[in-house]
Amino acid sequence: VKPTPTLIRIGVSACLLGAEVRFDGQHKRDRFLTDELAPFVEWVSVCPEVEVGMGIPREAVRLVRAPGNPERTLMLGNQTGQDWTARMEVVAQKRVEALAAEKLSGYVLKANSPSCGMERVKLYDGTQANATVVRTGVGLFAATLTRRFPTLPVEEEGRLHDPRLRENFIERVFAYERLQRLWADDFSVGDLVAFHTREKMALLAHSVDGYRVLGRLVAGAKGVPRASLKEQYEAKFMEVLKTLATPGRHANVLMHMLGHVSEHLNAEDRAELLSVIEDHRNGLVPLVVPVTLLRHHARRLRIDYLLGQSYLEPHPKELMLRNHV
Ligand code: SF4
Repeated sequence: VKPTPTLIRIGVSACLLGAEVRFDGQHKRDRFLTDELAPFVEWVSVCPEVEVGMGIPREAVRLVRAPGNPERTLMLGNQTGQDWTARMEVVAQKRVEALAAEKLSGYVLKANSPSCGMERVKLYDGTQANATVVRTGVGLFAATLTRRFPTLPVEEEGRLHDPRLRENFIERVFAYERLQRLWADDFSVGDLVAFHTREKMALLAHSVDGYRVLGRLVAGAKGVPRASLKEQYEAKFMEVLKTLATPGRHANVLMHMLGHVSEHLNAEDRAELLSVIEDHRNGLVPLVVPVTLLRHHARRLRIDYLLGQSYLEPHPKELMLRNHV
């Protein structure tokens, strides 16, 4: 596997980076994206409504359930009722195809937008002023994007203000990028075994069952056609990482890792490590504390198996994501 490129490429709703592209000519700059994440990322920004040719400023649009066809969602102008659906679908399809060449490792979408919203977007049942509204809509661009890239990590900016969801998303972005590098290298079964071994602790922190399912897939990999193996492994790997890690699961993983250094530690060091693992389990210290101490001992004792684990450094430490979970 080639070394990590310096920057990860992430797609983003353009207004979140501060571009004044919203219907009212305003932006929705998100400070986490522009100030904290930006140094590690090459953004690929898209404003679907501008690309459709709606102009700035423009009439706001909303999602409406098609009369007589509840499965179909229309995009209509709020006042004029102008129907943008077909144009948006065509542009979204083309844009998403073009994004396939951009080698994205993730996507951040603007919440609640009839184009970019990933979930819970307002969906009107008809065009009358008193039409009922449900929060089950999906923005037309977002729907096209997630259909085309079902395993790509995708989140909305609002959810990224929650420290656990933020850490989870960024972990998935970097994990996805590692996986794509494995595939790009014309991988052998041995490469996949090595990859799976390095991801073991990270996977266990999310789901023990999920780790086992992937393990069975890897164990039987020789008999599976390469394209199918890739598709199955990627789908399950990304699904497992989406399950939020918990302090309890982290504690289990850390205890497992402690087992690899324990015999080389004196009683005092062992007790200290145990105590910070328990402190994290009980919510007294953030995850960075036990992980840093464990990494320190793994380095000092040169335990290669542990040092190879992505779990010890799943994303740049400067982001300080594990200081808040
Ligand atoms: S939410 Fe999407 S469509 Fe709306 S302004 Fe932002 S990028 Fe453009």
